[in-house]
Amino acid sequence: MVVIDGKVLAAKLQGRLAEKTALLKDKTGLEPGLVVILVGENPASQVYVRNKERSALAAGFRSEVVRVPDTITQAELLGLIERYNQDDAWHGILVQLPLPAHIDEEAVLLAIDPQKDVDGFHPTNMGKFWSGHPVMIPSTPAGIMEMFREYGITLEGKKAVVIGRSNIVGKPMAQLLLDAHATVTIAHSRTENLAQLAREADILVVAIGRGHFVTKDFVKEGAVVIDVGMNRDENGKLIGDVAYDEVKELASYITPVPGGVGPMTITMLMEQTFEAFQRNLDK
Ligand code: NAP
Repeated sequence: MVVIDGKVLAAKLQGRLAEKTALLKDKTGLEPGLVVILVGENPASQVYVRNKERSALAAGFRSEVVRVPDTITQAELLGLIERYNQDDAWHGILVQLPLPAHIDEEAVLLAIDPQKDVDGFHPTNMGKFWSGHPVMIPSTPAGIMEMFREYGITLEGKKAVVIGRSNIVGKPMAQLLLDAHATVTIAHSRTENLAQLAREADILVVAIGRGHFVTKDFVKEGAVVIDVGMNRDENGKLIGDVAYDEVKELASYITPVPGGVGPMTITMLMEQTFEAFQRNLDK
């Protein structure tokens, strides 16, 4: 069994990104700019935003976190986004979710210029992605594809099961696996005989948000198991959706939590920001 080390791979990709950024900065005097807008004081969001800022600075980007109170009106938030849309110094705009209830999340995602939508959640980017012409790819599944590449894991012809059908993880993951010529099944909370279905998978990706839900009964011997879940156990410890200790006995490759998919997600956001910057230079 091989443990897929997301932390090491993310550090390697971040290092490469910092080199590419430095080279382009020398050549053009310009650098990628990433702005993150954080509404309110959700503790988990504050941690995510801090990590994104740290990662952007480590890559040599210009980085700004705009913190606004949760009393901001929707019109004010849309106005703020528009300012960054218009400003050529910024190549990526992220609005940290979730948003307070009085703000329409869809209106906010629609307001971001698709060319700066490094999360890939704008319908224009989603449409391009689904129709096979991706520009921005949702970062968590993009990071998982990097892991497959790095570890030489073959997808073509393999049977893949993705458990979870969210727009940010499950569905785009299934699409990327399909594009890589796997045969893909998407499972969810209404799927019958889930363990039996999962046991058929050569590649099993789990993104449901339930601590240690996937036990060895869900896993075929030799399967590749990717755990996207981030949950807290009763002691506040970060745990995945997969019961790691028992599943690792069966898997050929497995991602741990923490140190698996998580670090790759932020790295891929930085990659997308760099690519948005480069596309802007090429214009
Ligand atoms: P989400 O929007 O809540 O979606 C969860 C999906 O799991 C839904 O499709 C749901 O099915 C399915 N599901 C829930 N319980 C199930 C069960 N008992 N059996 C089968 N399917 C079940 O969650 P998400 O945003 O995709 O995130 C999933 C997990 O990944 C969370 O723990 C989240 O924190 C984590 N995450 C991690 C990263 C990272 O960078 N590591 C990034 C994003 C998310 P229905 O559609 O039928 O309700």
